[in-house]
Amino acid sequence: MVAQCVKCGNYEWNKIVEDNRITCPNCGYSWKFNKLPLFILTGCSGVGKTTTAHEFMLSTGDIVVLEADFFFNIMPHETQEDYLQQIEMLEDLSKNIMHAGKPVLWAMAGNLDKLNKVYNRQFYSDIFCLALVCEEETLRRRMMQGRGISDEEWIQSSIQYNNYFKTHTVIYDMPFDVCDTEGKKTGEIVEEVKKWVKEKMAGSK
Ligand SMILES: [Zn+2]
Repeated sequence: MVAQCVKCGNYEWNKIVEDNRITCPNCGYSWKFNKLPLFILTGCSGVGKTTTAHEFMLSTGDIVVLEADFFFNIMPHETQEDYLQQIEMLEDLSKNIMHAGKPVLWAMAGNLDKLNKVYNRQFYSDIFCLALVCEEETLRRRMMQGRGISDEEWIQSSIQYNNYFKTHTVIYDMPFDVCDTEGKKTGEIVEEVKKWVKEKMAGSK
């Protein structure tokens, strides 16, 4: 909606975005929109993204919190191109929500490499990622006892992904910050997420 041209009816994904102004290349009509950052709460499977995001959602009305599995559930998810399309739709949907004045935070484990590769990226001032991490034993316990996962391959891949976030600052071309959740209560983690969002909002334009 926000990027559709009401003057000539052009709904193609060919708009020109400069600052907070969208221009239709077909007829030259232009209009303002709310340009905000997009937030991603990431981390490996079992680290506590959903728990944190849910508690965060309940404790604030300043940001719209959504779960990226939504796209997995309704769209094809076999190939990298499928996942690229999911991210395209994620950013398309989010830009319409943020036009109402609130940024969007997605709980999302993977596909961080695709966030900068889609057409809809240009509608955001920034994309900020925060990775939740914890100790390997905590992760193993959460996955096995907390969620009843016994698939050792799944557990190992999650441990590796968790380790990646603990030992890097960039994944593909996407920089991320880290929130170490080890030994912390959900409320404490949520406070850290809030502080992180506030800092990023203040530094983005
Ligand atoms: Zn137009």
